[in-house]
Amino acid sequence: MERVAIFPGSFDPFTVGHESIVKRAIPLFDKIVIMIGYNTNKRSFFPVEKRLRWINEVFKNEPKVSVESHEGLTVDFCKKVNASYILRGLRTSADFEYERAIAQINKKMHPQIESIFLLTMPEHTPINSTIVRDIILHGGDASMFLPSSLNMKEFKADE
Ligand code: ADP
Repeated sequence: MERVAIFPGSFDPFTVGHESIVKRAIPLFDKIVIMIGYNTNKRSFFPVEKRLRWINEVFKNEPKVSVESHEGLTVDFCKKVNASYILRGLRTSADFEYERAIAQINKKMHPQIESIFLLTMPEHTPINSTIVRDIILHGGDASMFLPSSLNMKEFKADE
């Protein structure tokens, strides 16, 4: 059976930390579907369409990786794309505690789905989308935290 993993997140924006987790997971799975989770009632910084386009650009030469947006429960998306694995990245003990609760509840409700965690590379530990957004919002240069294949001019704050 094909090993399909999803990598769910907000990716607002997709950072080098996210990129590294996906790249390191490629040898482990037959297919990785990056799931941009959104909530129509919650305002995001970058529109979903831009996030889809950017992530597609990062992995355009990687046939195993695709990206889709989804509103609703992550496990429902797993069913939609036939995934048995949920991939997540761990930076700190705070990440661990947060992820542990979600993964254990998911496991209880959907025993057939396994959550798989990769520890972040040490240099990516402090990188999170909130800080990167703040840098962009205030006109700073966030290029070192964003995938190098992306055109930095696109990363202007959206109105
Ligand atoms: P969420 O809102 O679901 O936490 P994020 O877009 O912030 O979505 O993160 C998606 C996943 O990527 C999470 O598993 C998160 O822990 C992981 N992640 C975020 N930043 C990094 C990073 N710098 N290094 C490794 N993993 C990361």
